[in-house]
Amino acid sequence: MYIKYHPILQLCDVLGNKDFPLQLAAACKSANIEQDSPLVLHIEASLGPGRGSNRILLERDFADIEKGSVDLQNGQIIPVNTTTATAEHSDCSSEISQDQVKLAKNNTTPGPYVEASPPSPKRRKTGGMRPVKQTESAPLMPENSEDGAPSVRQVHTETRFPQRKKLGKEVPVLEPTSVDKLIAGIWKQLFSSVQLTRFSTIPEPSFNIRTGVSGEVFQAVNIMCMKYYNQSQSSRALEMIVQAYWIECYEARIAVIRLENPNYSSTEARMMALKEACAVLNWKEKDLRNRLAIWRGYKEIKDAGGWASLIFASTGVYRFCKYRTGFSDGFATRLRHLRSAFEVAADTLHSEWRDLLHVIGHDEPRRYDGHPHGWVIVPGGESAVPLDSTYGHLKLSNGFQYEFIDECVLDQDFFGLIDPRVIPELDNTDICQACKERQSDDIKMNQCSCFPSLFGSVRSPAPIQIFHTTSGRNNGVIARCNIERGTAIGEFTGLITNGIQGVDVMVGGTRPHTYQIFQGQMGNFTRFINHSCKPNSQFQKFYWRGKERILVISKGITAGIEITVDYSDSYWRQLDKRCLCGEYCCRFN
Ligand SMILES: [Zn+2]
Ligand SMILES: [Zn+2]
Repeated sequence: MYIKYHPILQLCDVLGNKDFPLQLAAACKSANIEQDSPLVLHIEASLGPGRGSNRILLERDFADIEKGSVDLQNGQIIPVNTTTATAEHSDCSSEISQDQVKLAKNNTTPGPYVEASPPSPKRRKTGGMRPVKQTESAPLMPENSEDGAPSVRQVHTETRFPQRKKLGKEVPVLEPTSVDKLIAGIWKQLFSSVQLTRFSTIPEPSFNIRTGVSGEVFQAVNIMCMKYYNQSQSSRALEMIVQAYWIECYEARIAVIRLENPNYSSTEARMMALKEACAVLNWKEKDLRNRLAIWRGYKEIKDAGGWASLIFASTGVYRFCKYRTGFSDGFATRLRHLRSAFEVAADTLHSEWRDLLHVIGHDEPRRYDGHPHGWVIVPGGESAVPLDSTYGHLKLSNGFQYEFIDECVLDQDFFGLIDPRVIPELDNTDICQACKERQSDDIKMNQCSCFPSLFGSVRSPAPIQIFHTTSGRNNGVIARCNIERGTAIGEFTGLITNGIQGVDVMVGGTRPHTYQIFQGQMGNFTRFINHSCKPNSQFQKFYWRGKERILVISKGITAGIEITVDYSDSYWRQLDKRCLCGEYCCRFN
């Protein structure tokens, strides 16, 4: 196989990437290219800004320096064809990274790779190994800021994120197992707006809804839709609670029958209990047995992942329990490890959920109150701990104080009432700089769909949790659902101020009109996102209704993975710390 060819192995060394042959094989596989068809590995190099440079490069600045290819059929190097050099792509990495290595299908004969000019969009798609453009744009601040701002994280100035790609196209991912799907379903429901309630009263609309669909009628029908949806989800949850509890009662009843009838075998006692149940349920014994097997599955889910895992399991749980393909040893362990995490989300996002358990006379007080991110998930499934308890080592006189805010707060002592994020030169602040559509906080009026998870659309809680890392980095942020590339995970919120020295700040604005976002006392979960030298998200500027916002944008994140950003070289240069990202390509270890 071609991966053993010398040039490929040399590339491993040059790129410092021991996984390169495997990635190459996976790229071939995901691109549906058979190994015996003619293939070349096309290698490019391009100029780009050095790390820490604040120069914004334009398309014309890029020129391919040199190209070469490796014939994957025989491992031969195909010499550089200098006549085909074209300025064609906008990557501007300053180092040779795996991003620069493209895979291209050689449709004709093996030989020098000749590039189409202008580049055809089709060929770009063939490159299965271009997951992210890491240094798409220049950092916001030059490395040695005269402001003396010590630890400045890097913001990408591009307002348009690279073309969205379907998650999983670029990096081969394993097919989700049935347990993965069950867990994904639980998280999806936990982060949804569903309202579960034990009592349901849906009043009939007070007017005739069959007299032409006016705005009022349509609204009334929508409200009914929502209420009946919530009611059916609640009924489903209640049904599963009772059914899981039925299994416990059934086993207990068998024990009692045997006590009362010492001459009964266990099978006879079981039959007796089944008959007692069938008489009331009005089902044939066979039907009850079939259902009982599913109810047993509900109980197993509840026993491992707690009541929250069963109540929010919703779609898919029936199939999961019917076919039982996922009930292996790993299933219970995985759910047990997530038990507290499920409860934190359920208690903080659906505070009434435990009331459903009253249906079986179970009274369990709420364990986790307050903000969803005020709790830190501990590895191994132990109870989650309050956020402030994880900062004991800082020995702060008043303890760790952090106020969760959704919007930035303006430091009026510094800026008065003038928000430094406002772009003064804009004519129409409601036109999106990126998509040119109209922006509005009114969902009905908004037409900008750049970052609907944050602006101009229905907002759901970010599908993330704060967790305690095992690598000595204290807390981190973990994704609970897949977050597609290009999706905004959150806005970097905090106190908008200036002139702070000696602590971490994010610098926004454009020189000389810069400002700082300080997350020391207030902000959101973005404060807890750790650095990685191979990050899966990035800071990026976006203008919403004439105001600059700094967003954390996913580069494609799988559920269960820690969310990371690159804090930039200038941030690290001023710290006497080692990076603990653990990546092969770590720059600050
Ligand atoms: Zn837009
Ligand atoms: Zn690192």
